Amino acid sequence: MQSTVVIVGGGPAGSFAAYELAKRGVDVSVFEEHSQIGVPSHCAGHLSIKSLKNLGLYPLPKGVLENEFSGVNFYSSNGTKFAVCLSKPVTCAVNRELFDKYLAEKAQAAGAKYFFGSHVSSLIVEDDYVKGIHVINRERLKVPVEAKVVIDAEGISARLLRQVGLSPFSRDSLVYAVEAEVENVRNVEENAVEVYMGSNYAPGFYAWLIPRLDGTAKLGLAVKKGSPKDFLERLLRKHPVASNQLRDAKFLRVNFHAIPIGGLIKKAYGNGFLAVGDCASQVKPTTGGGVIFGVSCARIAAEVASQALKIGDVSATSLKLYMKRVQGAFGFDSQIMLRLRNFFNTLSDEQLDNVLRFATKTGFASALRNIEEIDFQGHTLINVFMKPSAYATLVYLAYLYMSANA
Ligand SMILES: Cc1cc2nc3c(=O)[nH]c(=O)nc-3n(C[C@H](O)[C@H](O)[C@H](O)COP(=O)(O)OP(=O)(O)OC[C@H]3O[C@@H](n4cnc5c(N)ncnc54)[C@H](O)[C@@H]3O)c2cc1C
Repeated sequence: MQSTVVIVGGGPAGSFAAYELAKRGVDVSVFEEHSQIGVPSHCAGHLSIKSLKNLGLYPLPKGVLENEFSGVNFYSSNGTKFAVCLSKPVTCAVNRELFDKYLAEKAQAAGAKYFFGSHVSSLIVEDDYVKGIHVINRERLKVPVEAKVVIDAEGISARLLRQVGLSPFSRDSLVYAVEAEVENVRNVEENAVEVYMGSNYAPGFYAWLIPRLDGTAKLGLAVKKGSPKDFLERLLRKHPVASNQLRDAKFLRVNFHAIPIGGLIKKAYGNGFLAVGDCASQVKPTTGGGVIFGVSCARIAAEVASQALKIGDVSATSLKLYMKRVQGAFGFDSQIMLRLRNFFNTLSDEQLDNVLRFATKTGFASALRNIEEIDFQGHTLINVFMKPSAYATLVYLAYLYMSANA
């Protein structure tokens, strides 16, 4: 069997790469190890509306879109609240299973072929070139599939990336997450996302509650060390705000998964090979959001691959353009977000509490009111801190940053 381009994994990054290639008339096949797209889902599906629009994915079909948000409430470990109220809805929540299916259907409609229950066990490598994949198919047979380019969209395992000698994210850069679906949530604004910060409940990251309009919500938490399940139980029992909101909550589904938050890997290409999405750590280090970054990089990968196929040069020298474009588009913001994440992780719960109190007192929320861009947070921060209402908070954060790095 052969296909000009083979894609490993039918997650959002894999399917969007397939869509962009098929749209350009490239013969492309996607191999997905599960029997259907989007299952099991492990993601909150909280996405930027502006970025979805830029990708041509908004408005979303009925059912995929669950809610839109124009607010965020940040809480410290002892319940201090900093509320940000935006002038219009800036983010939305999608049903991740249906969102992934929607992207796969778009790719199929454009001409991409999908093979389900097909586990890619290894890459075929000859003369230092990736020349295809080995697939364990539904009949448990190992089948070779030849390809000119393989796009690795396998997600967090990054096994194939290692096979070509590329370095994935380090273990240190992972946070371990639990994602649950709950019903009977109380005292939550329908159009605001709840964020619970502080090492008492989510060391190294944060917890979140993303309400739907029907009284159900997506509840999650990620930690750098320790068991996310234990921390979630502590949040439910002890957090001054969350314990109240979730007092009668009934769990409908719970999943565990890791998130790479160490910033973009340095090299995500080789001879006949490109890596997109989580396996290339295309994830925002501040929030762990990887759908928009992954899908945007998948689009770049598809453009570079189809151009390389056109000129008949799929060598690493030719595909290097992918990394250059990814760095150009996301490198700056990814670096700033990584610094921000590391900085926030240095703050004690008491300091975080002080930051939220200070931000509320000095009216920092008004500097955030007209934000529309939440994916390119480096650029967003520059714009925010130009506003006089942000100066006091900027000085306070700078003081804490310098103290942490002294
Ligand atoms: C708890 C949690 C909450 C999150 N919340 C958000 C959020 O709110 N917003 C956001 O933007 N991001 C969020 N993320 C991150 C987001 O889920 C990922 O960044 C995104 O799913 C990455 O897409 P991907 O296509 O790279 O990988 P995946 O979605 O992981 O898809 C990879 C696919 O490859 C398949 N696969 C793997 N190995 C093989 C193989 N060998 N052969 C064949 N198929 C294979 C898998 O079955 C899977 O379908 C969250 C993550 C977690 C863990």
